[in-house]
Amino acid sequence: MTRPFRVAVVGAGPAGIYAGNILRTRAADAGIDARIDLFESLPAPYGLIRYGVAPDHPRIKGIVTSLHEMLAEGSVRLIGNVEVGADITVDELQSLYHAVIFAMGAQRDAVVDIPGLDLPGSFGAADFVSWYDGHPDVPRHWPLDAKRIAVLGNGNVALDVARVLAKHPADLLSTDIPENVYEGLASSPVEDVHVFGRRGPEDIKFTPIELRELGEVAGVDIELYHDDFDRPGADAETGERRAAGNQAKVLARILQSWRERGSTGAPRRLHLHFWHKPVALLGEEAVTGIRFERTEPDGRGGIRGTGEFLDYDVQAVYRAIGYRGTPVRDVPFDDAVGVIPNDGGRVLDGGGPVLGLYTTGWIKRGPVGLSGHTLGDAGETTEKLLEDHETLADAVRPGEEAVLDFLESRGVRYTTWEGWLALDAHERALGDGFPGDVVRERVKVVARDEQVAISHREVIVR
Ligand SMILES: Cc1cc2nc3c(=O)[nH]c(=O)nc-3n(C[C@H](O)[C@H](O)[C@H](O)COP(=O)(O)OP(=O)(O)OC[C@H]3O[C@@H](n4cnc5c(N)ncnc54)[C@H](O)[C@@H]3O)c2cc1C
Repeated sequence: MTRPFRVAVVGAGPAGIYAGNILRTRAADAGIDARIDLFESLPAPYGLIRYGVAPDHPRIKGIVTSLHEMLAEGSVRLIGNVEVGADITVDELQSLYHAVIFAMGAQRDAVVDIPGLDLPGSFGAADFVSWYDGHPDVPRHWPLDAKRIAVLGNGNVALDVARVLAKHPADLLSTDIPENVYEGLASSPVEDVHVFGRRGPEDIKFTPIELRELGEVAGVDIELYHDDFDRPGADAETGERRAAGNQAKVLARILQSWRERGSTGAPRRLHLHFWHKPVALLGEEAVTGIRFERTEPDGRGGIRGTGEFLDYDVQAVYRAIGYRGTPVRDVPFDDAVGVIPNDGGRVLDGGGPVLGLYTTGWIKRGPVGLSGHTLGDAGETTEKLLEDHETLADAVRPGEEAVLDFLESRGVRYTTWEGWLALDAHERALGDGFPGDVVRERVKVVARDEQVAISHREVIVR
């Protein structure tokens, strides 16, 4: 083995964990003694798997099991509650490591320009998702006082948001939702949730499992509108695509079955609308409605407005139109796309690759795709890093303890893998001790200070 090759990975979501794990294995195969530190701004690991995936998707949260096993091996060291760019700069990291891999994902809502977006009652899906998943950096209280709600978007995040809003809260009690979230949802008077897509039913980006489960939500009827399906020209344009894809056929069958099923008189309703382009949020002091222009195919694969406008009486609007990456100080950033510019994972500035800086996951290629897709990103990025390995400058401050000494000198209360195990055990114990007959695997701790204190064993596990 050669001298230790020290690498910092920034972001303990799937992309960062996969990158650390693959790098360690490939480096060992090449006779390189890689020492990898995984920095995470939150006290707990797993990124959007903990703070994005909906609480009623425990099957998907099973991904955590495999991520957990990778970190439990101990070959990647977790350093949590450290925000790179704030608690430690990228220059400082470079003085401690041969290379840095950025895997910060995408944390914010994509920007969209619709008049009225600043009105109270207008929300981004990313914020709402963070709230119901117990993210420590969003307010504990969420204003759930609307009877009629619009959700904009035709992807899985729109489905998650609409489902959580429409679901009867008792059906979420067996999940890991924090108590403030359960109480918030329990107080909601919602009756109608309307999901709007700009394009047609053949263009939805939902995946079949997620769409099907919408129709299985207890006490909620699905409402579809016939004139969304019989738009002139729509069928001819989309027919070819529909015939081409099995997934599209399954989605079409699900929608068709709902059209035939009709209403059961359930107390809540989830409406799916198509060919609706949002034009403006209405209201003076707060959202009181939303205006759409009806759309139709433009004959070239796009859509165009028809000049027909429709207003819906809603008191809240949620935008689920995509996520966006956030820049980190001193790291090149493509503001138009919201990613770190890169060539196969090597970070680029105007003049070519920046030696020693790499990127992977959603911040590398944009916020599209499931967690499994970040495995491919990590494979490509670690390959490039190992190709460059010989050329990378030695760290000025090498040694396992140097970074911990540095953080302590700055008063940063970092968390560790052992700390996460303590927090994990605490949350599971809260689930076990939950009163009543409901079986809960865990109850999430929300507040950052509390998470850090439990990780440092300053709070006794119940
Ligand atoms: C609402 C929603 C639902 C989803 N549902 C599913 C699903 O059901 N199944 C599925 O497979 N995929 C799902 N996905 C997709 C999946 O979450 C992503 O593919 C995956 O999380 C992307 O991984 P990542 O590591 O690139 O980013 P992230 O998971 O976002 O991880 C990035 C990490 O970096 C940290 N970080 C950011 N900035 C800094 C900094 N400056 N310093 C230190 N750390 C930092 C963040 O705190 C975060 O932990 C969903 C996504 C969303 C948004």
